[in-house]
Amino acid sequence: STFQELGLNDDLLNAITDLGFTEPSEVQAKAIPILLNSETDLVALAQTGTGKTAAFGFPMLEKIDVSSRTTQGLILSPTRELCLQITNEMKAYGKYCKGLNVVAVYGGSSITDQARDIKRGAQIIVATPGRMKDMISRRMVDISKIQYSVLDEADEMLNMGFKEDITDILSHTPKDKSTWLFSATMPREVAAIAKNFMHNPQEITV
Ligand code: AMP
Repeated sequence: STFQELGLNDDLLNAITDLGFTEPSEVQAKAIPILLNSETDLVALAQTGTGKTAAFGFPMLEKIDVSSRTTQGLILSPTRELCLQITNEMKAYGKYCKGLNVVAVYGGSSITDQARDIKRGAQIIVATPGRMKDMISRRMVDISKIQYSVLDEADEMLNMGFKEDITDILSHTPKDKSTWLFSATMPREVAAIAKNFMHNPQEITV
């Protein structure tokens, strides 16, 4: 299939051309039509390096309203490195989405700088769970209007002990949002997150 056939808009297709992506990877071909054409929850079993960032990133960029400054998308990832990598990819994918602001939130860097960047209007926040929870408790961020949440490398986040932080963060988001969970493995703890926080998720495996 082609990216055009998947139904992506011209802003994204132009960015994809610039990046030199010629065809969708397997996880992209499976996830993108599902996420673009419905408001379903999704559980995707996919390793890193499969193109999973674009599998959730393209649909999120397509669905958010860049003319609004409200935070609509939240991506949680286990480490600072992954958080920055996802942020850079989202910025590259969204380079033609006029008005888009993607902000990275992670520990070990100035929390006041991150709060200031969010205050300027971030439609998408990419965060590690510990710092995100901290910013919520200090009322530096409002995630009450989130429509799309991604749990990336869910198995790693749980391995690293972030279960309670994730639970706390999700409790500050609307019940009727969509949740997209990506994980390389599906241990019982990840299945429990899917069961407790998601509604009839569609499932894909690559
Ligand atoms: P990820 O699994 O999301 O970390 O992606 C791994 C790498 O593949 C990243 O450097 C992406 O920029 C790249 N990539 C993602 N999708 C495609 C694609 N359809 N064609 C070529 N490269 C891609």
